[in-house]
Amino acid sequence: MSAVPATVCPQCGAQFRCGMANGDKECWCASLPALSQIPAKTDGDLAAATCLCPACLQLWLAAEAAARAA
Ligand SMILES: [Zn+2]
Repeated sequence: MSAVPATVCPQCGAQFRCGMANGDKECWCASLPALSQIPAKTDGDLAAATCLCPACLQLWLAAEAAARAA
């Protein structure tokens, strides 16, 4: 068991494991393209918690791709 608490997604409240916070060489998120910006509808809490859970990160990436294609 790790002493590192689970990261909580600021978007949906899901708990997930952040590789960076757990000392991994690379977080799972490193295999995904970086978001160009944190979506505006997230609130200030995100400033302190910059990680999103895998599900939300995928959602934001899809939304960005859709916006770019529009
Ligand atoms: Zn989430």
